[in-house]
Amino acid sequence: MLEGFVTYPQDFVKLYREKGLWADKTIGEELDGAVARYPDRIALACEGQHVTYRELGIKATRLALHFIDKGLRPYDRVIVQLPNELEFAYCFYATMKTGAIPIMALPAHRSAEITFFAQFTGAVAHFMPARFKDFSHQSLSREVREKAPDMTLQFVSGAPVEEGMISISELLEDRIEERLPASRLADYRPDPLEPALFQLSGGTTGVPKIIPRTHNDYSLNFKAVGDICAVTEESVLGIAIPVNHNFALSCPGLLGGLYRGAKVVLIPSPRTETVLDAIGKERITIMPTPPALLIRWMEFPQLRGYDLSSLRYVIAGGARLNAEVAKKIKPVLGCDYFQNLGMGEGMGFWSRIGDGEDMLLNSQGAPMFDEDEVRVVDENEKDVPYGERGELLVRGPITIRGYYNSPEYNNKAFTADGFYRTGDVVRMYKGRYLSVEGRIKDTINRGAEKISAEEVENHILAHPDVENCAYVAMPDRVLGEKGCAFVLAKPGRTLNLPDLQAFLKDERNITVFKLPERLEMVDAFPMTNVGKIDKKELRRIIAEKMEEDEKARE
Ligand code: AMP
Repeated sequence: MLEGFVTYPQDFVKLYREKGLWADKTIGEELDGAVARYPDRIALACEGQHVTYRELGIKATRLALHFIDKGLRPYDRVIVQLPNELEFAYCFYATMKTGAIPIMALPAHRSAEITFFAQFTGAVAHFMPARFKDFSHQSLSREVREKAPDMTLQFVSGAPVEEGMISISELLEDRIEERLPASRLADYRPDPLEPALFQLSGGTTGVPKIIPRTHNDYSLNFKAVGDICAVTEESVLGIAIPVNHNFALSCPGLLGGLYRGAKVVLIPSPRTETVLDAIGKERITIMPTPPALLIRWMEFPQLRGYDLSSLRYVIAGGARLNAEVAKKIKPVLGCDYFQNLGMGEGMGFWSRIGDGEDMLLNSQGAPMFDEDEVRVVDENEKDVPYGERGELLVRGPITIRGYYNSPEYNNKAFTADGFYRTGDVVRMYKGRYLSVEGRIKDTINRGAEKISAEEVENHILAHPDVENCAYVAMPDRVLGEKGCAFVLAKPGRTLNLPDLQAFLKDERNITVFKLPERLEMVDAFPMTNVGKIDKKELRRIIAEKMEEDEKARE
């Protein structure tokens, strides 16, 4: 068993198996099933290239054999930072076949994040693109390797591949199965009750939290969401957000689409023109889209010039979909939409086909399974009366029982009987439907990308001119929220936004989406009566200031 993994209790394992929820298959076996069912259909499309299920199966198996040959073993942690490209799918499934556990990093992560993942998980390999958006992941990998010497294997997609790195394209061309029989993979079959992959949580502490998802629970997730979203072999699923995200990978995502025999289109960038073009060319029928992307598409001046006639559904998730935006989806994009409250930790609430406008506009959906247990509690952890606001606690067949290797944090993040404290404030709406009303966790939700305030504050505090700081959300019409840093400078010092951003980006090496987009210098912080910085007040102050700025501009 993987050390540091919190297992599901035996009685729940028994229950989920008896109910037929957990199939006891690996994600690699789920792919094999799809390859057998739909060999000649197109599985993947990316920038004009098309790959059948048969080819996908061959390539995933070939890479898995190469990984074994290179020394990867079950339970080995590997950082996957590949973008939306065919190699992502091949490498991901290959890890599923060898029992290696991919850490689903984002191409946008930089050395602060990647070094942490490598050191914290003891990762032995790093998968990266040769170049992505003018950034050299290979240099990043070399830098990380100095601080995490266990990370000895570096796999690179595309070209040029630098010395000492392994070219994924070369592996894909080398028919190793002619030397090493595919049957060898049986020796490396992972246990479906154990982690298949690690998702990442923005978390609420100084460092990201690692979410272990098992083969059983993840497969259940992508199959069930595929049902809810009516994905069939006729569907064409477009993925424009990073495929590494839980939402894009498994809700129903790449995995759910491929399980059903659909064509999955990996779109290399979320740029509006690129996405709209791909919808028309590949005849995309369904897409996961955070509200921020939907707003951009709907406001795109040249929208009418694109053929969106194939689009049947968009799946709104990752952040609250504003009712005014929701109402425009059908008239502007011509398609219907799903609402979903999802989380990397597992639990998902979904609207259903046929839900009326009232449900769609006022709720984020209902749980997927009868076995999902939902509580809404007050600050003393007492259940609030039905329909009142409280924190959402969840437990069920797709919800983790603990973060990887974080026993202390788990004591806070989970109740003694295993409910995950989501930090989301909700109220039950009708039956098992709920509506998201806010959150108590200290995060910023920037266009569905979650940022831990404490993590960024720790980096800001490292600045030589900073005495104290607080990082809070400020409203943004498109992204929902952006980060605003309130800073108290050391006596006689001051700071400006470009300098702070440059410090965080170049010296602290954090990813760009975490950077503050506004800086407010203060002489003192408002405090709560327990002596903490009053962030609620700071959020109010910045929202009010922005409103005043807006009025002044009019
Ligand atoms: P992640 O694990 O990055 O998907 O983040 C999960 C968190 O995103 C949830 O706990 C919520 O705080 C937020 N979230 C996801 N979907 C929604 C939604 N439809 N409405 C409001 N918040 C959401």
